[in-house]
Amino acid sequence: MAGKITFTMLKPDAVEANNIGPILAKINEGGFRIVAMKYLRLSPEQAGQFYAVHKERPFYGELVSYMSSGPIVAAVLTKDNAVADFRKLIGATDPTKAEEGTIRKMFAKSIAANAIHGSDSDENAQIEANFFFSQLERF
Ligand code: UDP
Ligand code: MG
Repeated sequence: MAGKITFTMLKPDAVEANNIGPILAKINEGGFRIVAMKYLRLSPEQAGQFYAVHKERPFYGELVSYMSSGPIVAAVLTKDNAVADFRKLIGATDPTKAEEGTIRKMFAKSIAANAIHGSDSDENAQIEANFFFSQLERF
């Protein structure tokens, strides 16, 4: 069903700071169900492929090396209106601009090391979920 799933990654800074548990709790409290999850480290090639849309941006090289610098947690989440509601829950890309109570406000270290990823559209949520998981249920 459209609008039902989104994809997230807990980024290397969040995993390194031992914040997997508290962030997953916030995600559940926000009304999301976790329907697939794995802990892994991306190779620079995988990180580059995942963020290929940002290839021309000045921060691309730094983003790729950062996202492959340590383990992450990748997960698929379900909720009605999942993409938009999850973007609201995580807050602005730059944590200094993120609203009080958002995951990035609470856990992000900087604009680059900003704790968590959230898909920006239903189409990208499906593409990103398929990048990490095969044989997903159809939600
Ligand atoms: N990023 C960065 N510098 C910037 C903008 C973005 O390092 O000026 C990183 C940051 O980790 C961000 C990711 O690149 O989460 C993807 O950028 P996007 O604009 O898609 O932000 P998001 O959708 O994650 O809020
Ligand atoms: Mg984005």
